[in-house]
Amino acid sequence: VSRTDAQVPLPVEDLADWQRALRAQFPIITAHPEQSYLDSAATAQKPQAVLDAVHTYLTTTNANAGRGTYTWANRTTTLVEQTRGRVKLFLADPAPERSAVHFTSGTTEGLRTVARDWLPGLLADGDEIVVPVADHEANIAPWLETQRQLARQGVHVHVRPMPYQAASGDYDHTALAELAGPRTRFVAASHVHHVYGGNMNIHRIRRAVGPDAVICLDAAQSVGHLPVSVADLDVDFVVFSGHKAMALPGTGAVWARQSRGPAFTPGGWSGTPNTVGIASLAAALDWLDAAGADRIERWTVALAARLTEGLRHLDAYEILGCQSSLAADSPVQRRQGIVTLRHRAIDSGDLGFILFSHGFMVRSDQHCQGRAGESTGSVRVSLHVYNTVEEVDRLLGVLATLG
Ligand code: PLP
Repeated sequence: VSRTDAQVPLPVEDLADWQRALRAQFPIITAHPEQSYLDSAATAQKPQAVLDAVHTYLTTTNANAGRGTYTWANRTTTLVEQTRGRVKLFLADPAPERSAVHFTSGTTEGLRTVARDWLPGLLADGDEIVVPVADHEANIAPWLETQRQLARQGVHVHVRPMPYQAASGDYDHTALAELAGPRTRFVAASHVHHVYGGNMNIHRIRRAVGPDAVICLDAAQSVGHLPVSVADLDVDFVVFSGHKAMALPGTGAVWARQSRGPAFTPGGWSGTPNTVGIASLAAALDWLDAAGADRIERWTVALAARLTEGLRHLDAYEILGCQSSLAADSPVQRRQGIVTLRHRAIDSGDLGFILFSHGFMVRSDQHCQGRAGESTGSVRVSLHVYNTVEEVDRLLGVLATLG
């Protein structure tokens, strides 16, 4: 581990006090100093501000939204509407009056909603859709289901698989440029890959498919971890999980740019929304904005780089996905705070148990990866702003003893 120190000067020393202050705001983290939570890609821990917002909402305001004429009901309706605006602001939406935000239980439901309620209206017989076949299954199955459903109605849509390229840590953009054509109407993509950790080059996808194709971004692993700007990314849908961005479980949202294609039809007020979850989402986005997505990204990217650099000296391990790079001109995609590894001799399930016996909570399985994903399991270490350099070094120390 000391070699790691020498080789990767941590370029975030200026953030040390900032990070210490933020970490102290997570009660579950400070209550368990002997444990290391390294599974934030599955769900994130919640800062005190989010817990307070939930308590305040339930003890001062709780009512149903969109109905009722009394103060609590009106306040709840306002909360839901204001949180739609909060999501747009968080995503740096340049035209909030034209876009829509629909609340869901998470990314899975959000992607399903886009596929079920919106995609069929876009597609005609002979059109093509591009599906990222090594992504999370939640970003594959809904598009295929829409294709099957349309086929039953006599509308035949071709699915073009978008491959992942391990060497670059990104989608295979050369393959995408070849498969994209004038009938390509829709592309599903992830912003940050949930196994390989790469920050995918969405601009290259836009260049390959042209200005008229619709791009739906699975932002489950980017919202809350790095700045996500719909203006910069030039995408049409952004789907994310609130619970991975420090809000309560059962929260998520779909942002839809309505100026392209038919209007998105959100559920409106036909059912009771998850009002307490929405209150937590508003508080989480406030907290994340105050913390600064750019600083959170710098911190977690640096920790991931330290981990991959340390692993490179341990022959027993294989790192999946793109290599870390802190260099701006690197030919590989930037690895975010996700490092997935395999031990060459120890089963990943066993490795997960061994790590837990040392206090590390990691994910060890196949990570819900889609059909062209890894055929064997692996251990995923996923980092957030509450994780520390000491945790990473301690993890490397334990991994070294298993080499
Ligand atoms: N997409 C990606 C890239 C993910 O990492 C996940 C969660 O693991 C999902 C979709 C599904 O998110 P949720 O479980 O919140 O629906």
